[in-house]
Amino acid sequence: MTDAVQASDKVTARLQDPAVARDVKTLGDFVHIYCAGHHRDRARHAVQTPAAALGVYGRRVPVACEECEAHLAYGEKRRALCPKAPKPFCAHCDTHCYKPDEREWQRQMMRYSGPRSVLRGHALDAIRHALEARKHRAAQRRAADERKDAR
Ligand SMILES: [Zn+2]
Repeated sequence: MTDAVQASDKVTARLQDPAVARDVKTLGDFVHIYCAGHHRDRARHAVQTPAAALGVYGRRVPVACEECEAHLAYGEKRRALCPKAPKPFCAHCDTHCYKPDEREWQRQMMRYSGPRSVLRGHALDAIRHALEARKHRAAQRRAADERKDAR
């Protein structure tokens, strides 16, 4: 067993929560798209992450190289252990539970895969994300205005 396959009981239990499973599936698809676009020259395989072992991906198990698989396993675990319900999109969250280098990798990956994921049936996710980003920016503007008023 490699690190990628080991998961705590808590992670295993949380991965079976439908909301967690939905987010993890989206993440897996995104990593699949990213790896297919960047690492065609590497050995790639159907991932064996904790979520894959539990069958969360159904028949659409992401295919990735070892490096992307490790990032995906990390993201699965972070999502499973996220204490927020409903979970905001990670990009807008004030709790930075990702290690800085993982966060940066995730950001690059999302930027590449987000627009391309629409072609793989993630149009609704893209719309949800855009709406939430708008709400998030509005809330930030309000907070900035309130700080101005307080002065
Ligand atoms: Zn890759």
